[in-house]
Amino acid sequence: KDISEGPLSKTSSSSSFVPVSPNVASNSGIQDAIQIIDEHKQFNPSILNYVEATASNTSIGNNYHIISVFGSQSTGKSTLLNRLFHTNFDVMDETQRRQQTTKGIWMAHSPRVTITDGEHERPQSDIFVMDVEGTDGREHGEDKDFERKAALFAIATSEILIINIWETQVGLYQGANLGLLKTVFEVNLSLFGKSKLDKKNDNDHRILLLIVIRDYAGITPVENLADTVTEDLKKMWNDLAKPADMTELKFSDFFDIDFHTLNHKLFQPEQFSAGIARLGDRLIVKDDLFKAEYHHNIPIDGWTMYAENCWERIENNKDLDLPMEQILVAKFRCDEIIKEVVDEFKLKFNELFGNKEFTDFEELGKVMSDLYDDSVENFDQSASRYNKSVYEEKKYELCEKLHVYYKQLFEKQSQKLISDTLSKFQKDLISLKGKNFKSKSEELSKDVCELVATSLGYISLNGDIPVNESISSFDAEVDNIVSKQRATELNSIVNKSVKKLSSGISKAVQQELANADDETWDRILAAFKKLSVLPEFDLGTTDEQNKTAQETFKFKSWSQFHDTLSKLISKDKLLIILQDRFDDKFRYDSNGIPKLYFNERDLEDSFQVAKMHAVSIVPILSLAKLSNDSEILPEVDIFDYDLREKYLGESAHDDDDDDEEDEEHTCFAEIMSEGEKAELLAKFKKEIDAKFVENKRAIVQSVTQ
Ligand code: GDP
Ligand code: MG
Repeated sequence: KDISEGPLSKTSSSSSFVPVSPNVASNSGIQDAIQIIDEHKQFNPSILNYVEATASNTSIGNNYHIISVFGSQSTGKSTLLNRLFHTNFDVMDETQRRQQTTKGIWMAHSPRVTITDGEHERPQSDIFVMDVEGTDGREHGEDKDFERKAALFAIATSEILIINIWETQVGLYQGANLGLLKTVFEVNLSLFGKSKLDKKNDNDHRILLLIVIRDYAGITPVENLADTVTEDLKKMWNDLAKPADMTELKFSDFFDIDFHTLNHKLFQPEQFSAGIARLGDRLIVKDDLFKAEYHHNIPIDGWTMYAENCWERIENNKDLDLPMEQILVAKFRCDEIIKEVVDEFKLKFNELFGNKEFTDFEELGKVMSDLYDDSVENFDQSASRYNKSVYEEKKYELCEKLHVYYKQLFEKQSQKLISDTLSKFQKDLISLKGKNFKSKSEELSKDVCELVATSLGYISLNGDIPVNESISSFDAEVDNIVSKQRATELNSIVNKSVKKLSSGISKAVQQELANADDETWDRILAAFKKLSVLPEFDLGTTDEQNKTAQETFKFKSWSQFHDTLSKLISKDKLLIILQDRFDDKFRYDSNGIPKLYFNERDLEDSFQVAKMHAVSIVPILSLAKLSNDSEILPEVDIFDYDLREKYLGESAHDDDDDDEEDEEHTCFAEIMSEGEKAELLAKFKKEIDAKFVENKRAIVQSVTQ
């Protein structure tokens, strides 16, 4: 017992972060233990290296345990840990009776655990043990502060907190470690009280207080000792000055409590060893001490950061909100993991897709998804061990990041696909040449829309990338192209028909010109009627479009009719016709033999007959009048400027010339105006008069000779 009451000795080392033993452990080159917090309350940044070097593998995640022993100096803490966990914490030399340990918080990885059947080599979970050196229990301001902080730290990080009590102190409600427990209680309340009250948190986190009764004589049943200690602890809890809103919180909201006895190490060494082994059995073989709700759920790769954050806040006397710390660590680590994953992703992404063109979208989509899934899986492997809501949030963040790349890729590939497909589609439509246009164009449209919809579906990361907009704008573009082409086809039908009509009318008119008679215009009109019909067509155009096409055709037909007439029955053309007709009668006889005139009377008679014959067609050809005396009246007003603009696309007339032009042509049937007619006849008269004079002169000459 005088162990705990021994003299307060100086620490053996003033330097920070020295290994407990200068000898490195075994042949692994790893030091036996690492000082997490040194006597100057500095946090050791190289813990992660130690953890990574000692853990059974790097991906143990949450599959580890942290168990701490906490208490005054020289109460056999290090001895217990070393015997149980095969660590190599410094132990006070029994012969020299000199305190050799270094104050601070130490941690070591347990290579084996002592059990009744020997040693357990490979615990299911890696066990890290912390040796938290307190003071000697005396009141010293500075030491009290460290003790409180050490307790905070131990509770913030450990699942099980071992506290030694000498059997002789049980029931005395005094002694170093009971005082410590009061600190533990207070600290625990400040750590977890708030989140316990917050029922929404569903916070069932507790810590196991494992009270180890040391120097157990083996006489008093352990249950009795346990009852006494439990009573004391509960009383201590109830007496604790709690914040007003936390008075309802029970001891059992925060703590599970369990007991273990160890006999006197020197007096009953065998029982002592057996007790150690039994404790090993309970921890490892029966596994009835570690519980899920004790775990802080910080994956081991984030543990150092977590521990450091905790210590920093503890050291600066800031409120330590553990759930908050867990979330901070989770966020930080998840961000780091995202960065790693995204960096790797970017490399592969460029390798796979950079500046490449793809035609097989199914294959492309598969490669895209594979890389995506791999990346997310990589993230999951490390990040899914962290706080669930943070993990989910960060996973979403990662996915969003990846989606940016995929969206760009999708944009690029889909644009290429769409523009290629559209231009081919357009060519295919044109090459239909209007044949079965409706059904064929529907077929082609359906094919390309299906092609694009499935292709885009392939590269949409199973629908993560929205495709509907692209698809519907493509469909609309297809519809647009089809309807444009439809209009073009309809237009071409109209124009072809007009052309056909034009040449048909030309022929019919030309046939009439030389020998026009009363029924000339009946025949010409009949020919026009026959030609002014659009062929059957089935383009899928709307009734409205069809109606417009019919109207356009009608207008163009009449306009063309008029143009043809104007062209073929012009002054000049008629003059030639008149001359021919005149010559027919004047210069040739009925047998087609050239005539010679010998007397003036013959000449004059023939001249009159030929002239009458010639000009008789002028009234017929200059006015389109049917045999029933009615003039041909177009069904549309082909002289109307607005209609001409609408159907022929002629640009609007110039306002200045308005009046003049209005006068020019207003009547369809009037092919030649009176003025033109007079001009024609005058010209004709002049020419035939010349012929007459010529013939007369010949007669005169022949008579005088
Ligand atoms: P720590 O300062 O709490 O880590 O204590 P140590 O493990 O260094 O032990 C201090 C001294 O107590 C050493 O001389 C040990 O041999 C001795 N010791 C260890 N365990 C026991 C025990 O169960 N009973 C008694 N009486 N002495 C012990
Ligand atoms: Mg020690």
